[in-house]
Amino acid sequence: PVVTRFAPSPTGFLHIGGARTALFNWLYARGRGGQFLLRIEDTDRARSTPEATDAILKGLDWLGLDHDGEVVSQFDRAGRHAEVARSLLDKGAAYKCFSTQDEISAFREQAKEEGRSTLFQSPWRDADPATFPDAPYVIRLKTPTEGETVIEDEVQGRVVIRNDQLDDMILLRSDGTPVYMLAVVVDDHDMGVTHVIRGDDHLNNAARQMGIYTAMGWDVPVWAHIPLIHGPDGKKLSKRHGALGVDEYQKMGYPAAGMRNYLARLGWSHGDDEFFTDAQATEWFDLGGIGKSPARFDFKKLENLCGQHIAIADDAALLQEIEAYLEAAGLADLTETQRSGMARAMYCLKDRAKTFLELIEKAHFALASAPLEMDEKAAAALDPVSRGILAALTPHLQSASWSREELEGVMAAFAEAQGTKFGKLAGPMRAALAGRSVTPSVFDMMLVLGKEESLLRIEQAAA
Ligand code: GLU
Repeated sequence: PVVTRFAPSPTGFLHIGGARTALFNWLYARGRGGQFLLRIEDTDRARSTPEATDAILKGLDWLGLDHDGEVVSQFDRAGRHAEVARSLLDKGAAYKCFSTQDEISAFREQAKEEGRSTLFQSPWRDADPATFPDAPYVIRLKTPTEGETVIEDEVQGRVVIRNDQLDDMILLRSDGTPVYMLAVVVDDHDMGVTHVIRGDDHLNNAARQMGIYTAMGWDVPVWAHIPLIHGPDGKKLSKRHGALGVDEYQKMGYPAAGMRNYLARLGWSHGDDEFFTDAQATEWFDLGGIGKSPARFDFKKLENLCGQHIAIADDAALLQEIEAYLEAAGLADLTETQRSGMARAMYCLKDRAKTFLELIEKAHFALASAPLEMDEKAAAALDPVSRGILAALTPHLQSASWSREELEGVMAAFAEAQGTKFGKLAGPMRAALAGRSVTPSVFDMMLVLGKEESLLRIEQAAA
């Protein structure tokens, strides 16, 4: 069975790159009836904070990336990591190294002077235990001096590193704490991880980690190192270009479904498909579709996809989603009338909104009550001529039954009788019905508001 994991270091918010890594692992597992595990890599005590762990959990929760099992704390497993270092020692695959920092520096200095490789070669590698001093030591892995380490990466292809370019890495520090590289391997092994999908900034680590797998005789997971996300200019992703915590996207009102769709497309593709559902993404996602070059973050595309996801969402779900945004939009205390207006309007709002905040913004006409406050453009649209036209239109609307077809017919006939185009009536009508110049369609507004309220607004605007 497939087991993937997301293993963030809790040193800050859940940024967009981390979210994408989590999503890929989640999709891969979910599409194969596998498990998606979560491990918090909190061994760096100085930089890890509970707030960051919290932000990561919240971010994953918002994105809907549910994990299986308990959240694993890497720090809590330090004892187990040390145990593995000791067992490598017992097997003769690792050794105690008593070299001091000064000795190591001196070794490097000399190697440099002599034009040799500065990789530290410990004199203790094959030392007789009888010669061991009673002094602090580190445990180092005995890396083969010949041959090569080969990473078969699902994204990067075959990556070959000559073993003589790897030094004998430290597994356990002299204070008995395990190094990060050891912790990752032991945890992945113990958690039964079969597929490691992560940023390609960890590709070099994979060569190191491979050495530990081999020494322990453990199965090596499938590796997939995904290229990092770049800005639209091809450079490192900056804040301005989207390097934000996912909570910022949430605050901006992007729907999680759109975010998932966009993040899935960020470095992975399935033919020409841009817009897809979770079910499709889960079914389609595979490692072969991950691109080799860095994806570029593109706000326009994100917004476009988010707009499409809002458009297909059902009204009830959208009404629920926007609850969390009402307060920020200054609408904490909606009346029942406003709520039902919003509900009736939802069908026409969702067609053109890219965020939940835009959805609320577009609902303005349904939330406002007569007499309306006019914004500047709306006020300008209601010049004396336009007000006269609205006054002349009123009786026609009064005798109309309030269906879309009839309203369209009445307006078209009226425009023709006035010798004008319907478009010319739209501005004043928008102003009258919404107090604004940018609104949903005039017919949608009339239908949502109903006959009485629509006529009241038009009459007030005409007066
Ligand atoms: N903790 C690492 C990070 O946040 C991930 C390590 C891994 O996936 O193996 O970048």
